[in-house]
Amino acid sequence: MTNRVVEGRMVTSETLAELIEGERPMEATEIEDADRECPECDGNVISVGYMPSVTAFVTGYKCQDCEWSDKQE
Ligand SMILES: [Zn+2]
Repeated sequence: MTNRVVEGRMVTSETLAELIEGERPMEATEIEDADRECPECDGNVISVGYMPSVTAFVTGYKCQDCEWSDKQE
């Protein structure tokens, strides 16, 4: 399990997905570095894949420094 620091808090895959989605996912993959910068603050963006339900898979993106997040379904 890889932990990362987001907005000053340690997050796991599950809690990172929860930050992006607003609720805890059924499953989440490892956190990875996304190859992009935050459009709001130029901070580092990390990504995580997760399943909000059995039939859906989402890739979520989150800035490590500010509240910005994005997702692709
Ligand atoms: Zn940011």
